[in-house]
Amino acid sequence: MEQKLHTETLCIQAGYSPESGDPRQIPIIQSTTFKYATSEDMGKLFDLEASGYFYSRLQNPTCDMVAAKIAALEGGTAAMLTGSGQAANFYAMFNIAGCGDHIVASSAIYGGTFNLISVTMKRMGIEATFVSPDATYEEICAAIRPNTKLIFGETIANPALNVLDIEVFAKAAHDNGLPFIIDNTFATPVNCRPIEWGADIVTHSTTKYMDGHGVAVGGCIVDSGKFDWTKYPDRFPGLCTPDDSYHGVTYTERFGLEGAFITKCTAQLMRDLGSVQSPQSAFYLNLGLESLPFRMKQHCANAQQIAEFLQANPKVAWVKYCGLPNDKYYKVAQKYLPNGSCGVISFGLVGGRKAAETFMKHLKLGSIETHVADSRTCCLHPASATHRQMTDEQLTAAGVGADLIRLSCGLENAEDLIADLKQAIEKV
Ligand SMILES: *Cc1c(COP(=O)(O)O)cnc(C)c1O
Repeated sequence: MEQKLHTETLCIQAGYSPESGDPRQIPIIQSTTFKYATSEDMGKLFDLEASGYFYSRLQNPTCDMVAAKIAALEGGTAAMLTGSGQAANFYAMFNIAGCGDHIVASSAIYGGTFNLISVTMKRMGIEATFVSPDATYEEICAAIRPNTKLIFGETIANPALNVLDIEVFAKAAHDNGLPFIIDNTFATPVNCRPIEWGADIVTHSTTKYMDGHGVAVGGCIVDSGKFDWTKYPDRFPGLCTPDDSYHGVTYTERFGLEGAFITKCTAQLMRDLGSVQSPQSAFYLNLGLESLPFRMKQHCANAQQIAEFLQANPKVAWVKYCGLPNDKYYKVAQKYLPNGSCGVISFGLVGGRKAAETFMKHLKLGSIETHVADSRTCCLHPASATHRQMTDEQLTAAGVGADLIRLSCGLENAEDLIADLKQAIEKV
């Protein structure tokens, strides 16, 4: 029933249906534990024979209500919240890939995820091959090995702003018996629902637009319930064979395709690694979700106007934003993001690094932050901040040239923002 409702309605109503006399807003169940009448009652929960709450490291009602809302928004069958976007991406991959396995990932992904895959997961014995975000079907297939467990990408890459051809990546994955996991943080389900294009698992850093006010770090994993793990029991033994740490439960048998992935991720990974989101943070996230469609519209409208202003300014050397008709990703964005992409733009000034430093110094409304996707406009010059240890050559290789300025357009009035950018550019 929920899937037929529009996004605006789901953002308000999904995940929580109060009964007569219940609180209208989602209650914050700020409790670590839950009381039971008998040990037998509780034992059934531990054996996953009955569903219910016993300890908030595994599940908490407030977090579950918000996860259910995000599952409805993405058109998935199950979801879980995590303590951060990093935890969401790690859990989503580690739930099916372990020591001795291999994954294929787009090279244009968030720096933290790139590090997670190329350094930390490598230390755990998981190898990775990175392919271009513009890779063809054949190029993606060529990177797949017998021990590959998944393919990973981002809808709109942070900070490269490439738009992924989701259908190409999903088809390459499926033709090789693999799930396609996609980080949909920048687009949000308001602008793109990757499951409709073939993605199997969707992840989020809810810290960004979903929260949208810069108040709570968090993440989410959504399962489409569509990938048939049971067709490849040898490739995905964790989902298709008994789990000794849960009295021999086989997740796909007990919970079906719609629940196996998230139940295993909760019962094993959250139990053992414990990157939970707090009920209080989930409550803030839910407030952000209520206004998400309206905020995304405004973020995109502001970014479009600002991108057009920048492109017309002679002191601006280049602008990257997929809403501009001459952008490399305009066509693919028209397909996957017809209602808008996100509020993040990157650009460079004539005069490169030096010009960028001067520009940043004179910005008044745009504040200097590493954050993006917030109601307040924020701006970053990676070469003089987050990436300052790198040489110009290293910066170019990383796709973050010395001149690159990343601008996250907030919800302020576009004319005010443009006036601020204009005066800062004039100082250069
Ligand atoms: C920020 C971000 C992350 C990491 O999320 P945290 O909530 O900061 O841990 C992952 N993916 C993308 C695309 C991001 O922008």
